[in-house]
Amino acid sequence: MGKKIFTILFATMMVIAICSSCGNDDETKNDIRTGEEQVDQLIDQLILNIAQMCVDKKNGEFYLPVSSKDEAYRFCESLTGEKWDGKNRTVTLADAYGTVMLKAGSVEGLYGTVIFRDVRHLDDMTLHLADPEYIKNDNYGIDQFVNISVIGTCTNPKCKYVYTKNAAGVGYMPSGYKCDKCGSKLNVTTSWGGR
Ligand SMILES: [Zn+2]
Repeated sequence: MGKKIFTILFATMMVIAICSSCGNDDETKNDIRTGEEQVDQLIDQLILNIAQMCVDKKNGEFYLPVSSKDEAYRFCESLTGEKWDGKNRTVTLADAYGTVMLKAGSVEGLYGTVIFRDVRHLDDMTLHLADPEYIKNDNYGIDQFVNISVIGTCTNPKCKYVYTKNAAGVGYMPSGYKCDKCGSKLNVTTSWGGR
């Protein structure tokens, strides 16, 4: 009898010890984020930077001008919430929300490439982080690039689809400002302008 009470007491103390160590440990902070929270952060960062992005009309790949390797790394960390040292790495999002591949830059001026695969709320895309000079000169004509901006986002928290247009005003807005992925109302941004 006495021994059993001691065992229960000990087990309770262990549970308390384990719980308090979880709460204090910063290392486990990323691991307990849900896939939804991870994708939220990712889309927030993409929208923050989308006005600076260009898209190569030939292959549909995106370019974000950055001034240095460090800036490219910081951008990737702001996307995934995890440190990146510039080596090839695949970040698997929680709850089967997709993968984000980080690839080291292979040529001078190209600091890294981010490949989004099956990420919830997002079309698959390839985003190169490159020096502005590289984007202007290297193998591509500047006329192939068009700047893009957000014109609307779906208000349905389960969808969050983002609608964009390019600098020439070419974009796609579904009729009635209703998301054509889920039918919910769109939050239309001022850059659509209605012009
Ligand atoms: Zn939607």
